[in-house]
This record gives sequence, C-alpha cells and structure tokens, in this order.
Amino acid sequence: MIRSIRKYIPKQCFHSSVFQLQQLPPHKDGLYFGKYTKEEYEDAKKIIQDQISKLETEIKGDYNIRENIDKFKPFPETGPSTGKISNLTDFFKNTIKLTGPISLSAFMRQCLTHPEFGYYTTRDPLNLKTGDFITSPEISSVFGEMLGIWYFTTWQSQNRPKQMRFIEFGPGKGTLINDILLTFNKLIRKVQGDVKIKIIMIEASNVLRKEQWKLLCEESNAFETTEEGFNRSVTKWNNDIVWMDTEKSIKKDETGQIANYIISHEFFDALPIKSFIKQDDNTWRELVVENSELVENKLGIEGSEETKDFDVDFHLTISPKETPSSMIPKLSKRYKDLPVGTRIEICPDAELYIMKMVQLLNENNGAVLVVDYGTTASVPENSLRGIYKHKFVSPFYKPGDVDLSIDVDFGNLVKLTESLSQVFGPLNQGDWLHNIGIGYRIDQLIKSTTDESKQDKIYESYKRLTDDEQMGKIYKFLALLPKGSKKPIGF
Ligand code: SAH
Repeated sequence: MIRSIRKYIPKQCFHSSVFQLQQLPPHKDGLYFGKYTKEEYEDAKKIIQDQISKLETEIKGDYNIRENIDKFKPFPETGPSTGKISNLTDFFKNTIKLTGPISLSAFMRQCLTHPEFGYYTTRDPLNLKTGDFITSPEISSVFGEMLGIWYFTTWQSQNRPKQMRFIEFGPGKGTLINDILLTFNKLIRKVQGDVKIKIIMIEASNVLRKEQWKLLCEESNAFETTEEGFNRSVTKWNNDIVWMDTEKSIKKDETGQIANYIISHEFFDALPIKSFIKQDDNTWRELVVENSELVENKLGIEGSEETKDFDVDFHLTISPKETPSSMIPKLSKRYKDLPVGTRIEICPDAELYIMKMVQLLNENNGAVLVVDYGTTASVPENSLRGIYKHKFVSPFYKPGDVDLSIDVDFGNLVKLTESLSQVFGPLNQGDWLHNIGIGYRIDQLIKSTTDESKQDKIYESYKRLTDDEQMGKIYKFLALLPKGSKKPIGF
C-alpha cells in the first residue's frame, strides 16, 4: 500500500525545481500534476485522504485504549516529592502514567541494568550469603576446568594461533574465566611458550567488575579507566584485561591473526525479551507492562520466613492494536505457522549478541561457546520469571531487587548462525561434561583425599552439574566454529 501511494504522489509537490524545468501549467489548487494526468493525481489524493482519515481514527481510538486513563493523577506528581526518583517502582509508575503501558523489554532492561537501581548494577547476586542464585562455575571449579580443556583442544586444532583473546559475556564473579585460564595456561605452557592472550569482559555491573578484578588481578595492578571510558588492568598471569559495556565496542582484527575465543554462561537468559500473542487475524499483539492497583497478584515465596503479601504493582496487558514491535514476529517465517492464540517470547538483544559473536570468528580460528538453559525444539512461550532468595517469584515483584530470567531460544540462535558458522549442539550439559571426561576428573579428585566429607562434597557437586533432574538436562552447550570445522570434543 505504501509503495502504491508513493508511486502516485505528484513529484512536484516535493521538487518544485523539476517543475520549473518542465514549465508545466499549474493545477487550480496551486499544485502541479507534473508528468501525471489529472486522473492519476485525483487517485493519489483519494488514497492519501483515505489513509489519513484511517490513521486519525486509529490515533484517536474508536474505543478507550487505556481504560484507566482518567483514574490516574495528573503528571507530574505534586506533593513532597523532590522529583528525584528513588526506586524503580516509582520510576515505572510515573513513566506509565506519562506514556501509557511500556514494553516488557524496556521494563526488564531497567530492572536488570538501570545504573542506580538495576538488579545486576547494584549488587553481587552470586554472593554466598546474600545472593539469589548459584551457577555451575560457583558449584565446582571442575566446571571451568572442563571448559579450559575444550578451549585448549580447539586452539590446538586451529594450528595454535599465537595471538588470542578470551572474550566473556556476563562474567559474574569472574570464577569461570579464572578456572578456564588456570587450566588453559597450564596446558598451553607445555606445548608453546610465546602465546599472547588478552581478555575482554562484557559486563554491565560496576559492582561485579570490581569482584572480577579482585579475583583475576593482583592489587598492585590498579583498576583503571581508559580515555575511551573502558576499565582496564593486568591479570595475575600478565594478560591485558579490558571491561566494556557492550559488544559494540569489541573491534575485530581484520588480518585474521588474532583468534577470538568467546564464552557466555548464563548471560543470554538475563537479556530483555518482548512477548506477543497471535490473534485471529494472524497479527501479533504485544504484551506490555501496565500499572493498575486493581490487579491483585499475591505470589508467596514457598518456605520463606517473610510472611507479608507479595503484591505487585505491575502486570502484563495485551496492547489493543499492533505495535511497531509486532513487525518482528510478523516478518519472521519462524512464527508464521504457529496457531492463533500462541504466546511467544522474542529476545532481540540475543540476536544482536549472537551475530556479533559469530562475526568475531575468523576464517580458520576462533570459537564461541554458549552455555545456558533453554529450549531447542520450541519457541519459549511464557518463561519469564523472577528469582529471589533462591526461589521463583513474579517477575513484577520488587522491580530491581529480583533477578529476571528467561529460557534461551537456542533454536533461534542456531537458525541465525548456521549459514555463517559450523554449529555444534545444543547438547545437554550432563552429556557434554561426560563426553569431555568429567567422570575421570571427579574420580581423581575423590581419590586425592581420604576425608569422607570432602569426598561427599565432590561427588554431590558432580551430581548437581550432571544429573538430568538437576542441571544436567536443562542447561545446554552450543558451539560455533569457523565454517568447515570438524566436530570438537564434547559434542
Ligand atoms: N556467567 C556468570 C554470571 C551469570 S549472571 C556465572 O555463570 O556465574 C549474569 C551476568 O551477566 C552478570 O555478570 C551480569 O552483570 C551480566 N549482565 C547482565 N545483563 C547484562 C548486559 N545487558 N550487558 C552486560 N552484562 C550483563
């Protein structure tokens, strides 16, 4: 439709200089037909008028788009408030009051990484005493050792590049890269001495950057800020280490000499999503975040000592019309045949990150390993959850104080990268760890001590990482290697 309107718009409406050259007679409205006939001009006028009147009704709305609109107090709030927002709940209430419901991805982004009130930006969520969850690298250092072996064998199979970068997305406390480097450095020293390794950390949280620096660097190597605004230091193994906010700052070395070895563990599950429902007319409506006191959503935390109500101020509502984001599922073949009524989650950020990762592969070297929990054969439908004190809660409970997490759409990551790289997996964590030899390592560790309680702990952590009922099945390993690469160990 848009194309046909453009075709009929008399050019001279926009380019009067063209008219002057052609010396065409003026139309009675003071407009010019140009090379079009009067009839064509009238047709175009009709189409435009139709469109405008349609848009006008849509904008004004032939029904009340926001049923609560007249119930809210006018913005800005009057009263003792200084106008400075002191928490995310007020921030969202005021934003929604001003603009109407907000997209779920905007809500999640602020909850997770708002500079002052975001979940990750203001705390160490992995702290053993005060944290909300625990991850595989924190359960046992054997996890990082296995990954270190994988990177070492991959590096060997790629003719041992002499210059390389380890790039980690969302490094948490830095434990995983620490364990990978310990193993990698040990193994590499046996075969080659002169390899130059740099480290890049993509980390949104200053609190966690400091934790990572404490673990990876000696105190004598200060945590500095560069002219470009990155943080930098030198590790205890004498590697340059740089912290960046986003993947956009990573520069690729076009000579192909520097091999990039990329790792992300429980990073993709922390990215904001958009949520949609398919309608009878095959359009997709976005689920947006609304604030309404009328909705009750008490979500208790099982077994928690806190007995107060878990009321939430926000909830999802279906947008009354298609939003600009509706184009995302509409334009993708992936969602075309899903039945009416299907709910889906789409993570546009994940697409940007995975595309950057795959672009960082050189023709003959480099590797990406994505480890996360998620789906392989189906599109995530309604996986968004809050995680608070090791329990699931509503994602709208205590914005900024609760971790938000989603299932990673591995099928989509594969679809996006398979023409650009050699894809292996996704494979269940338990299978991957067993393939790479975790059993032998655990056996060795158990035999290294006679202390039974230590032996039990080693065995327990092994079970936790590999058992189907625990982390062995829901967590997946996905590897991307340069096109034409042979199957790496583990897969
Ligand atoms: N990989 C670690 C930590 C997982 S928690 C582990 O497995 O233990 C998620 C990590 O991603 C945290 O370090 C968090 O600060 C970071 N993070 C979350 N969203 C981010 C974003 N948008 N950009 C950069 N880092 C982000």
